[in-house]
Parts: sequence; structure tokens; C-alpha cells
Amino acid sequence: MPCKNCLEKPVINLTNNNIKLCKKHFIKYFERKVLNLIKEYKLIEKNDRVGIALSGGKDSLTVLNILKMLKNKIRIFELEAIAIDEGIEGYRDKTLEQAKNYCKENNIKLHIFSYKDEFGNTLDNFLKKNKMKACSMCGPFRRYLLNKKSRELGFTKLATGHNLDDESQTIIMNYFRRNLETSARLGPITGISKDKRFIKRIKPLYLMTEKEVATYAFLKELTTEFLECPHSSDSYRGDIRDMINNIEAKYSGTKHSIITSFLEILPLLKENFKGFIPINSCKNCGEPSSQEICQTCKIVEILKKNSTN
Ligand code: SF4
Ligand code: ZN
Repeated sequence: MPCKNCLEKPVINLTNNNIKLCKKHFIKYFERKVLNLIKEYKLIEKNDRVGIALSGGKDSLTVLNILKMLKNKIRIFELEAIAIDEGIEGYRDKTLEQAKNYCKENNIKLHIFSYKDEFGNTLDNFLKKNKMKACSMCGPFRRYLLNKKSRELGFTKLATGHNLDDESQTIIMNYFRRNLETSARLGPITGISKDKRFIKRIKPLYLMTEKEVATYAFLKELTTEFLECPHSSDSYRGDIRDMINNIEAKYSGTKHSIITSFLEILPLLKENFKGFIPINSCKNCGEPSSQEICQTCKIVEILKKNSTN
């Protein structure tokens, strides 16, 4: 069967509606869908200074590529990129190379911060001396640095490469762990809090599946290697991802249904958990925290103790 819109050979079969599209029509469909979401949820507004959380992987390069197109068209916002070097040999060094190349070729300012400079060592070395799971340490560190550095750089929004697969996993994880309060802070735009220390996060790929993003990145030649963090399958998220993928393979459209249902109940969740978490300042670093000492400072303390033992 040819493309739905012409007689060309299809490059993808969209699983939620069983539509086949050729290269030209898929790229058009993809970009239009992302731009419509940006408009519908007002992800970017006039005078925004948008920072892209750039890992150099397919998702963040796709976001950067589309926002760059949008910026060239409407010229009402600024665009820069921020990358975190966790220190994962064989993975992050390679994706950072892709990030640097893209930014150089497209004249985009890239700011890089590393765990080594900010926390004293690379993730690889921390893991050699500690039994802690990689993502339990890396996730909080990454979120902490992205928010703090984005604020210091004066970004008004931080765009991330989260796609529909990532978000459906988070929704199910929060549900299984009875963590609805965290889900209340999800959605295409997050961090809309009175506390100015939190930089609003936007997710332009919210409605695009992992497969669609990978296809787009491949067709637009944004990346030559599709690398995955070596720790990504060790986590609870890895198990949830496999579970959802298995169900999707049998009942196509499941991932879209998770997101659509979630967007229907999101306003109720937000209302229910409004003002629920008191935000204080971490006594150690001064960053916003719901507890006396923030999660990042607690982890740094544990790492320090273990390295002297
Ligand atoms: Fe860090 Fe885990 Fe993400 Fe790898 S998968 S970058 S270890 S949070
Ligand atoms: Zn702290």
C-alpha cells in the first residue's frame, strides 16, 4: 500500500490510526503536529528565552531542529542549548559530540555542565565506589543542574525531548507507585508554580511516539547513531517500558490512549493537588526543596561518606 497522500513508498505506519506515509508527507505530518501542540498549549510565547536540554540523542536534536525552524520563521524568542555531562564513557561522550557538531553547524550557543565539576566526580566513578543504582543518583543530579543552571542562564523555559513513550511510562510508574501527586505536575508544560526558582519545562514532542521521533531524526539525518544509556534498562522505568511495549505490540494505540486519558484527567489532578507541596529552601544549597535538605545534597553527602570509607 502506498502513502495515504500520494503514490510514494511509505516510510512509516502510524500505529494509532494505521496510516502509512512517505518521507515527504511524514516529515510534514510530524512538524505540523509538534507546531500545533506548541500553539495549543502556548509552550513558547513572545520574548521567551528558551533553553533546550540537549543530550545529543535523537529526541533533543529533533526538538532543537524544530524550534530552530520555528525561531527562523517567527523570530519572537531566543534559543540556546544546555547539556549535562554525567560522565558515562562510551555513551555521553559520543552523544555530546553530536550535540556540539549540531550546535556549531547551526550557530546555536551550547552551555555544558558536568557532574565532575559540579559534584566532584563522574557518574562512572561514583558507581565504582557506591552500591546506589545509577538512575537513583543520576536522575536527581540531572534535574537539579538543569533547573539551577537554566535559571542562572536566564532561560524562561527549558525544552526537553520527552516523547509520548516517556510520558506514558511516567504516568504508569506514578500510578503503580501511588504517586498521583507527581503526575499532577506532568503534561506538555510543567513547573507552572508561583515559585520563580523553578524554570517552566516544555515538552514539544509530547504527542510523538519514540518510533516517530527516531524516524524523523533518521530522515532528517540529525543523528547517525541511536545510542542508549547503558543503565536505562536497570531501572523500574525499563521494566515499565518493556511492559507497555508488549501491550502496544498486541493492542496498537495503547500508548496514545494512556496519554489521551491522562490529559482528560490532568485538570482534575492539578485542582486536587493545588498548593499541596510546601516549597522551602534547602538548608545546604538554597535550592528549592520540599524537605529541609534537598535530594541532591542528601545524595552528595552519602557519596562523600562512602568515598572516605
Ligand atoms: Fe542517568 Fe539513568 Fe538517564 Fe542513564 S538512564 S542518563 S543513568 S538517569
Ligand atoms: Zn541542597
